[in-house]
Amino acid sequence: MAEIDAEYRDLPTCPYCGHQCQDYFDFSHQDGNLEEVECGECEKTYELETITTTRWTGHKIDAGDPA
Ligand SMILES: [Zn+2]
Repeated sequence: MAEIDAEYRDLPTCPYCGHQCQDYFDFSHQDGNLEEVECGECEKTYELETITTTRWTGHKIDAGDPA
């Protein structure tokens, strides 16, 4: 049986069955947070780690001015 890739996924992924949880807004979005969650598919409990990536965008605030 192939190992399920449950690391660094866009959605919380069950390491037992690979089910991707769509209701991730219920979980903490704090980086490094660990919590036990129950898979909605196989109903096994697994530990979910939150990994956040911060990116930055600089926007000009005088974009309407003629160059
Ligand atoms: Zn599962």
